[in-house]
Formats: sequence, structure tokens, C-alpha cells
Amino acid sequence: MTREPGHALLAVHAHPDDESLWTGGLLARYAARGRATAVVTCTNGELADGTSAAAPGTRVGELAEALGVLGVAESSVLPYRDSGHLGAGRGSLCAAPFDELVTRLVERIRALRPAAVVTYDAAGISGHPDHVRVHRAVLAAVEAAANRYVEPEAGPAWAAPSLWLATIAESRLRAAAGPPSDAVSDTTAPPSLPCTPDERIAAVVDVRPWLDVKWAAVRAHASEFARGGRVTAFEDARLRELFLGTEWYLFRPGPGAAPAAGPGDLLAP
Ligand SMILES: [Zn+2]
Repeated sequence: MTREPGHALLAVHAHPDDESLWTGGLLARYAARGRATAVVTCTNGELADGTSAAAPGTRVGELAEALGVLGVAESSVLPYRDSGHLGAGRGSLCAAPFDELVTRLVERIRALRPAAVVTYDAAGISGHPDHVRVHRAVLAAVEAAANRYVEPEAGPAWAAPSLWLATIAESRLRAAAGPPSDAVSDTTAPPSLPCTPDERIAAVVDVRPWLDVKWAAVRAHASEFARGGRVTAFEDARLRELFLGTEWYLFRPGPGAAPAAGPGDLLAP
């Protein structure tokens, strides 16, 4: 008997707020169409070096509120802490054994049986070490979950049909920087932040119809605004529409993809 997907979409992220910032429009769009979504967040958002601004439990509570705004059907938080930009610290995601992280994700993938799995691109969108680690772990876990001889105690094998990697289009990053000045007119210079050449992007999703919902989910992470985190940059309406009004995804066929299938349709139906 062929097993059917249990969820239309599984988004795997490193920290509370990433689900809303980078995939919130897609999650809201799926929910609006009655399609079941799931989110796995690999850390509780508390810094491993003990300098966290928010009280313990605050960020997980904010995450639950954001997931409610986005209509996410199923969610879980893995027992790691934010590695910070130095990528280290006791109990942090980057300090954890890679295989342990992969096994936890295999268990979630097999339990949720997603049709599509979403995570960050190889540069982790922002370059945060936790994002890069989650990207690598998700790629490994999607393959491992499909192999019934790997981690058999983690549940029956599930071959996800498609994998989508959230990124930022290079053209949008350059547009946000504005026209080059007379003094700096070299448009061939590398962009200042991680991004992807537009021609490599498989899905450009206009999520402006869900931007208010997405922004409400971002705002649910109130402690990030209170400490003046990077999310405050999007209080600027122009930057909000430029970077949160569109979501960009690279496509990778999953182990359950039909032979010779082209890029799946992230937006079907
Ligand atoms: Zn993050």
C-alpha cells in the first residue's frame, strides 16, 4: 500500500523567527488553502554563551504565537541552543554531533511524511553558522529518512518528493542597495551579503497578499524587537516589502521524486 504524505510542507529552521522571516508567506499561503504544514525549529533561541536577552522560555512562547498566526498544524523544537555568530558554545547546535542532529530530523521527517521539505540555502541566507548547519543536516536527513536500513528505530522510511531551499535573489539585493553612485559604479562586484543569481532560482513566490499575516508572525517575536535585533530593519516599509514580500526558493529533487521529474510545483494547487 502506498503511503500518502502526512503534511504538504515541512519547514526546518534554526531559530525562532526564521520560520516567519524566510518562509512565513509560503506557510500562510498553504494554510489559507487548507493544506497541512509543519515546522521544526532546531534551537530554543537562547544563546549558548548565556548572554540571551530574553528570559528562559520567552522565545519558544513567541514562536508558538507566530506559528499560530501562520496556521502551522504541527511543530516541534529540538533541544539545542543558538550557537551565535561564532558558531560555538555548550549545548549549541553547532557543538552537537552532526549525526545526532540528522537522526532527530530523520525521526521528524518520518513522523510528518512531508510532500515538500523547506530549509535554507547552502549559505544559510544570512550566513549564520546555525543556518548553514541546518541546511546540511536537512539534506542528509531527507536522504537518510528514505532509507529503511538507516535508523530503523526512527520510524518507517519516508522518501520526500521535493526539497526547497530559501534564498535571496541577487537582483533584489542589488535593487535594495539603490542605483550605483558615480563613485561606485561597478555592478560586477560581488554582493555584500549571501544571495543567489536569479537564473538559478526555481520559484519566486509573491507573498504580498500574506505580507500582513507574515509581518504579524514576525512581530510575535517581541523580544527580538525589544533587544533591537535584525528584525527591526523590517520596520522600514520599503525594506519589508523588498525582502519579506517575496520568497525565493531553489529546487532539489527529493528521494521520492518521480524519475525524470522537473522542478516540482511548490504552489500547487
Ligand atoms: Zn536564524
